[in-house]
Amino acid sequence: MSRSAHPAGPRHADVLPEGHYSAPPSDLNVLDPKVWAQTVGRDGDGVVTVGGIDVKSLAEEYGTPAYILDETDFRARARAWRSAFGGDADVFYAGKAFLSRAVVRWLHEEGLNLDVCSGGELATALSAGMPAERIAFHGNNKSSEEIHRAVSAGVGRIVLDSFQEIVRVAHIAQSLGRRQRVQIRITVGVEAHTHEFIATAHEDQKFGIPLAGGVAAEAVRRALKLDGIELIGIHSHIGSQIFDMSGFEVAAHRVVGLLKEVRDEHGVELPEIDLGGGLGIAYTSDDDPREPHEIAKALTEIVTRECEAAKLRTPRISVEPGRAIVGPTAFTLYEVGTIKPLDGLRTYVSVDGGMSDNIRTALYDAEYSVALVSRTSDAEPMLARVVGKHCESGDIVVKEGFLPSDLAPGDLIAVPATGAYCRSMASNYNHVLRPPVVAVADGESRVIVRRETEDDLLRLDVG
Ligand SMILES: *Cc1c(COP(=O)(O)O)cnc(C)c1O
Repeated sequence: MSRSAHPAGPRHADVLPEGHYSAPPSDLNVLDPKVWAQTVGRDGDGVVTVGGIDVKSLAEEYGTPAYILDETDFRARARAWRSAFGGDADVFYAGKAFLSRAVVRWLHEEGLNLDVCSGGELATALSAGMPAERIAFHGNNKSSEEIHRAVSAGVGRIVLDSFQEIVRVAHIAQSLGRRQRVQIRITVGVEAHTHEFIATAHEDQKFGIPLAGGVAAEAVRRALKLDGIELIGIHSHIGSQIFDMSGFEVAAHRVVGLLKEVRDEHGVELPEIDLGGGLGIAYTSDDDPREPHEIAKALTEIVTRECEAAKLRTPRISVEPGRAIVGPTAFTLYEVGTIKPLDGLRTYVSVDGGMSDNIRTALYDAEYSVALVSRTSDAEPMLARVVGKHCESGDIVVKEGFLPSDLAPGDLIAVPATGAYCRSMASNYNHVLRPPVVAVADGESRVIVRRETEDDLLRLDVG
């Protein structure tokens, strides 16, 4: 049976691959600091708190489901990345992971730059006061209108993704009397996965210009000839949720190889190299992400070593973490609605959200953790699958997790590490309303993205 052709979706229960069942944790009430935001803990009554506020109060005030974001943790992670790379490098937060005006302000205050990849993200960034020169514009099919807006706004760089775009950006910039700073995104033939990477000659994907066969070198040749653009560097982004630094090693080696070719052919040393994002976070206790300072040290050493070998001045490095900054800072708070024990299999726990607020499980087979957060429990662990309320059997939030067997409707459960690619990929499937994002810090909470209303839905439906 073709999984993708199945009418109930690729993750229909009948065709789900068997997961690996790990042993239940010895104490279900313990919250692993690896997967929970920095200020998360339990109060004297066993209720989980974040930023000094307990989740029962948050659920009462803001309703469920809701994304609860630990602002203190977000700022700490942003700062850690900033200081790990120091003044000789730039950290661009990848806005696609999660973008809102509050987030843009935090990034600005913490000294980070920002990646956007659509007119909407650009508008959000500018409206929250991010200086245009600290914005990078990405995407494999930017419209002429988006390019026009980005150049007019004065964005610090546009990352060129195709031959058409080299000419398009140069033409638009020239028509505006500008010289736009650009990088060229290349594909280096490194496929990075969570715990491994594959180095290949060619890469079969829509992003970037292939290094193989001299295609990227030809792109550089053309870009250097055009007056409307100033080529400042080469960009490479090798994947996501990566733990193994050796993929970056191969990528850096190949990018520096191109810089050397450019120097030899044109006598130009391009001053910048962007190694992209993709650094992994802990979704479950099995994941062991690296600290920003280790990543910074490793990447800087790799680039320096490669440039010394090629007798090039070491270019200014930039990186683009999205998930690694925002991912661990939020959890999704749900209320349990129904509970269905299936004998000998698992217990289905239905919550008041689902694939509309977290599509990653259905889309990528992603793994998440889950915990009972409105109280503690000494009941035996049960193997649970957390599912949503959508008309789709692939509507799974947590494939396998352990919850106490006395779980009851009305309990609050939370799924940690949902800060990245959850609200930003949320949908209105089944006309479900997208949850709010509530920021908490130092005993205060506030909505930074409000809950959608039925009026919001009906406003778009013009009848
Ligand atoms: C998605 C993306 C990122 C961020 O990836 P994370 O996995 O969130 O770190 C960075 N750069 C580019 C070009 C991307 O497409």
